[in-house]
Amino acid sequence: MNILVINAGSSSLKYQLLDPDTGKLLAKGLCERIGIDGKFTYKPQISGKTGKDAADVSMPTHAEAIQAVLDALVDRENGVIGSMKEIGAVGHRVVHGGEAFNKSVLITDEVLKAIEDCIPLAPLHNPANLTGIRACQSVCPGVPNVAVFDTAFHQTMPPKAYMYALPYEYYEKDKVRRYGFHGTSHKYVAGRAAAMLGKKIEDVKLISCHLGNGSSVTAVDGGKSVDTSMGFTPLAGVPMGTRSGDLDAGILQYLMNKYGLNIDEMLNILNKKSGVQGVSGVSSDFRDLTEAFQKGNARAGLAVDLFNYGVRKLIGAYAAAMGGVDAIIFTAGVGENSAAQRMDIASGLEFMGVKMDPEANKARGKEAVISAADSPVKVLLIPTNEELMIAMDTAAIVKG
Ligand code: AMP
Repeated sequence: MNILVINAGSSSLKYQLLDPDTGKLLAKGLCERIGIDGKFTYKPQISGKTGKDAADVSMPTHAEAIQAVLDALVDRENGVIGSMKEIGAVGHRVVHGGEAFNKSVLITDEVLKAIEDCIPLAPLHNPANLTGIRACQSVCPGVPNVAVFDTAFHQTMPPKAYMYALPYEYYEKDKVRRYGFHGTSHKYVAGRAAAMLGKKIEDVKLISCHLGNGSSVTAVDGGKSVDTSMGFTPLAGVPMGTRSGDLDAGILQYLMNKYGLNIDEMLNILNKKSGVQGVSGVSSDFRDLTEAFQKGNARAGLAVDLFNYGVRKLIGAYAAAMGGVDAIIFTAGVGENSAAQRMDIASGLEFMGVKMDPEANKARGKEAVISAADSPVKVLLIPTNEELMIAMDTAAIVKG
């Protein structure tokens, strides 16, 4: 059964057509400038088929975007399937499922209502995700739609991990708690890690480091998320490309008073002008920072140090939280590609049984054990694949 995976933004829509049983990717692409002029990119993954790159396709709404995707997939010459019947279901990435969803679900009217109810928790993302779902319902009636939530995997956290030390009514009345994000990625790499270790997921303690432009670290005990670094919003945790990560809330009052900032301006600084970009003044991209540091820019080096140190501290914290750890996972842009950052993060963790293999750590973008053969704690490099995870969840739900 092929699954169409959709990640809908407000004016863009990413898609992939996959076979979750084999992991085979048939086609992928992107619709951009929806509601403006419409640009359509189609990349078939079958040899002999020709794709399209940012072609002009009118897309007044997400419905035309979905139609363009379907037309391309079944196109006689360059399509990858014979007809729509070969799409068993559509899996949608939905950012926030609040406390209503602890796993992926078949989309019904009730589910749509519950996703709507989560809009205050993710005002930028959930409305766009809903638009993508509704477009699929109108363009391909009869094809089941499944919602896969970024937050669902973390719903297993115990209250001591998800509660903030605020007056309790803010949790009860206003749902203020740690939700965590990147759940689909953490779930996928945790499953792969257990397979690489040759153990059942129920039997392993893992620390998953999803390090990219946005970063989060998650403690996974027996296949369940028991703590994670992102919080009520994806602003929390380690410093990121442009996000501050955790900070003393007293700083907000101090800076807002001093510079006459309102809360929106302050949050814009914390979300878009902070992190390694803010500290370095150079870039939010770790490759640029490494290059700048090599050319003598000390602040670029400091920014990377701050990030690596933040991740290392969380690994220590989560090992303590779980009473041990069997493997540490590195994934996403930085985790999959930067051998130097992996090495720096892991150095200093020898006391808890982490011993890296510098040669194995040269691996990039493919699954590899990068710890020494005699390291009590394994260190794993695992490329994430959120789309495949969404397709796997979707197929499992549709098959019942
Ligand atoms: P992601 O958000 O997972 O796509 O990750 C994007 C980030 O990965 C970029 O901001 C880069 O800083 C980082 N990245 C990609 N390749 C490398 C690399 N070779 N070395 C260091 N960082 C990298």
